[in-house]
Amino acid sequence: MWNFINPVNLRFSPDCLKNLGELIAGRSYCIVTYDGEPFANWVQAIRQSAGSPVKVVSNVEPNPSLNHLIQQARELKKCSPFPEVIVGLGGGSALDSAKFLAACESGIDNLVAMLRQGYDIPDIKTKIIAIPTTAGTGSEVTCWATIWDTENQSKLSLESKALYAEHALIDSELMLELPLGITINTALDALSHAFESLWNKNRNPVSNALAVQAIKGIFEYLPLLVKDLKNPKLRQKIAVSSTLAGLAFSNTKTALAHNISYEVTMKYGVVHGLACSFTLPGILTAMIGQDTKLDYALAQVFPVKLELAPQYMKDFFSILGVATEYADYGIKQTEWTAIVSNAFDGARGANFIGLKEVVLPQI
Ligand SMILES: [Zn+2]
Repeated sequence: MWNFINPVNLRFSPDCLKNLGELIAGRSYCIVTYDGEPFANWVQAIRQSAGSPVKVVSNVEPNPSLNHLIQQARELKKCSPFPEVIVGLGGGSALDSAKFLAACESGIDNLVAMLRQGYDIPDIKTKIIAIPTTAGTGSEVTCWATIWDTENQSKLSLESKALYAEHALIDSELMLELPLGITINTALDALSHAFESLWNKNRNPVSNALAVQAIKGIFEYLPLLVKDLKNPKLRQKIAVSSTLAGLAFSNTKTALAHNISYEVTMKYGVVHGLACSFTLPGILTAMIGQDTKLDYALAQVFPVKLELAPQYMKDFFSILGVATEYADYGIKQTEWTAIVSNAFDGARGANFIGLKEVVLPQI
């Protein structure tokens, strides 16, 4: 038995900010975004379309920390009544912050306690509109948010069906000015989401189909995009691939590569998109021939025979200038063995269909 659920109303549209007013439809709203340009300009475009927001939270952190989110939530709680809609505008950090702030409607202390204990939060009335300005995190189509408890050196996951966005607006014109590094890192995050949903105990035919198309799109178009960053058609192709990957892992969650990444990001400061993807060639090498359904899916995504797929993947990373050895990220062998072993034991590691003794020698 399997099912596939994703209730997000997806809209691929240019000029999405100008048309936001019709979706907000007179409801009170708050914008959660970053400081400075181009975000201030985009906030202005939203104002013109949807009227004045009750609040603009413009100090989103990269890798948002729990303490910072609590401060933002206290400020937002001063709005009375609480906004009916939270608009997240930005990369994964902005969208995840928007989810936390929407969830704090039910009480900040209560929310933090549930988050620390790993409970699903209760239903909330506040709706979320997600407008990603990068292509990769998939947060616009998932019902969870990653929050960093920097005091306790741990990563927390906020999760609830109530955190699915009411609308996700994908406008690749908002991504045209992204620099090379962010373009690569976020697309590799999407690539990881797609692979992680394939080598996943929760996979199903729909998530597999979405992941296969996502990977094919990233393999084909990312090497072209890195040489032509302002090409709108290529931006659109990667935005679509990222969304397909997001939809795939919205139903499976991630697996080993992501569970490895959290410690690598926390201890070594490696950005998420790199931390969760540099192990993909090694995991792929280990997993070929281990599982018939996985082999079937992998045979569809690579334009070469399966035995040549690991080299294809390494060459792909090499074209992007991304290192695939842990030592390249300043990690020593004993530390690496511990990180990988711990990753097998965590919740995301339990989603992974492979065996530690098969994978560890290859990554
Ligand atoms: Zn990710």
